Amino acid sequence: MITEDASARTVMQRCDILGSYSEEPGRLTRPFASKAMRQVNETVTVWMQAAGMTVQQDAIGNLIGRYEARLAGAKTFLLGSHLDSVRDAGKYDGPLGVMIAIACVERLHQRQEHLPFAIEVLGFADEEGLRYSTAYLGSRAMTGTFDLEALNLTDAEGIPMAEAIRNFGGNPDPRALQTPRWHHDDLAGYCEVHIEQGPVLEALKLPVGIVSAIAGQSRITVRFIGEAGHAGTVPISLRHDALCAASEFVLAVETLARNMPGVVATVGQLTVQPGASNVIPGQVTLSLDVRHQDDTVREQACRRLEEQAHAISQARGVLLNWQLLHEQHAVPCSPRLTKLLAKAIVEMGYPLHSLPSGAGHDAAVLSKLTDIAMLFVRCRGGISHNPAESVTEEDVEIAIKVLERFLLLLSSEEGN
Ligand SMILES: [Zn+2]
Repeated sequence: MITEDASARTVMQRCDILGSYSEEPGRLTRPFASKAMRQVNETVTVWMQAAGMTVQQDAIGNLIGRYEARLAGAKTFLLGSHLDSVRDAGKYDGPLGVMIAIACVERLHQRQEHLPFAIEVLGFADEEGLRYSTAYLGSRAMTGTFDLEALNLTDAEGIPMAEAIRNFGGNPDPRALQTPRWHHDDLAGYCEVHIEQGPVLEALKLPVGIVSAIAGQSRITVRFIGEAGHAGTVPISLRHDALCAASEFVLAVETLARNMPGVVATVGQLTVQPGASNVIPGQVTLSLDVRHQDDTVREQACRRLEEQAHAISQARGVLLNWQLLHEQHAVPCSPRLTKLLAKAIVEMGYPLHSLPSGAGHDAAVLSKLTDIAMLFVRCRGGISHNPAESVTEEDVEIAIKVLERFLLLLSSEEGN
């Protein structure tokens, strides 16, 4: 049992404990359906039970803790985040949201208080996609949007996903994985607390912030095809250097993003062929990642970049190949829930700031089924996906109180 004042400390300690369950010695790596995930689910089960919840693990390995409503037949409000991690991860990306949710339920339980809606705290089995390179396995299985083809994927050791699920104690039966746990009408919404993973709140000296939307994303492969040649014999004026074209484009990406508010655009991979010190680059393939919380702005940015890539390749006499790999629409957070979250923050005496999430979250998948809201917690230096990930106990305490206040505001809105 934890007392009110100790909630934040308990959350910090629990994140430390979960951080020790890893598949790799000396660093935190917790892939989907691993032994480390089993240890985490067992440990979190005990904490959920202590907070007055009944606990079950679903077909794909998501952990679900349920705290009943005041009256039977009420709707369910969802809280949660993911319990898996990237390779060499930090302790807070994912688990912090689950631990804060449990802390809020535990406080209700201590007061013997039940709300007009049930609460389910969800610990998702896979968000990061480390083991099978497919993100959101957990939330997809819960919302009926699981892609069955994923079952045939194999991990680095050749283990098919279906086998991994079975070994974990789950059920790879298509019906089990594709049946949503709830219908839209059963739910009152979903709220996820997560570290910001960016430096904005720290720069503004704010402990928490409200997410306005989860940004949409375009992933594009751009190829400049020039002409390879001898680095000593082909004069500069006669070259068709693919890397020079690509370099010009990389800087054009940065310039465009600087001039379009809210746009973030990144070239993160560059492959130069043939890739020898004495050969003029003949072909360069690069990755382009463009994000914005407004889909029309993102699409416009991509169109302009494609035009610029064409202009650069024309001027340099190289060919261009532009291939859209993947596109994800922006997911706006619910005005109804966001307003309550904002009210909770203001009532607690903190200034309000809303910001888009540049990273994807389980909330985006849950939005297919119900209204979503997200609360960001400041993290040091904006660092995440890194063992240096860090949050303060003070900020965690504020996040717990904001979420608790939010649940009470939602209760009075939902009536009785
Ligand atoms: Zn995360």
